Amino acid sequence: MSGITIALSKGRIFEETLPLLAAAGIVPVEDPEKSRKLIIGTNRDDVRVVIVRASDVPTYVQYGAADLGIAGKDVLLEHGGVGLYQPLDLNIAKCRMCVAAPAGFDYAAAVRRGARLRIATKYIAVAREHFAAKGVHVDLIKLYGSMELAPLAGLAEAIVDLVSSGSTLKANNLVEVEEIMKISSRLVVNQAALKMKRELLQPVIAAIEGAIR
Ligand code: ATP
Ligand code: MG
Repeated sequence: MSGITIALSKGRIFEETLPLLAAAGIVPVEDPEKSRKLIIGTNRDDVRVVIVRASDVPTYVQYGAADLGIAGKDVLLEHGGVGLYQPLDLNIAKCRMCVAAPAGFDYAAAVRRGARLRIATKYIAVAREHFAAKGVHVDLIKLYGSMELAPLAGLAEAIVDLVSSGSTLKANNLVEVEEIMKISSRLVVNQAALKMKRELLQPVIAAIEGAIR
């Protein structure tokens, strides 16, 4: 594929990426929230955007189906980052990954007495590493969404999930008991494309870098 293909997910990443692309002189010609198209042209004949699930962005870029992409640190840690160059933290789609539990559950006490905890999460790799580093024994249960439900339904004692305002936790009577890490989205670049298409990609990366400063 000649030209540049950029992998983006709909929603907050797309919205927060638009000004950065604009700074690089790239303007998508359609809004993915309104159009059902998965390939969206831009004002530049040689640049297109592909709309993929947030967690699929690193995969598209890893295999070179997209040259560039924007993905959350959460997604990149789960993917592993193989084949990806990650030049820039864009400081967008900011949130934090944390452990949350029902308001009535004494998480700290459970950890102190060495209890084995059932944890539901979409972020198995990050959760495994976090609890291993703390020496907490856990059974991890993989979920694909609505993690907040798991403790309420008796599936798990606690969850590992992303939190920004905390209103979803609050609405479900859960409290944040531990912050694991701060999360923001990063630019990812296919390593081979960076070499083969340097003249095309470098100005775009530099303009995005300028826009975040
Ligand atoms: P889907 O909603 O399709 O299941 P997803 O939840 O991974 O997938 P988004 O909700 O669009 O996709 O989130 C995309 C990225 O935005 C996440 O990978 C994360 O980095 C970031 N993010 C997720 N939740 C929040 C939040 N509440 N506030 C800010 N950023 C968030
Ligand atoms: Mg979501």
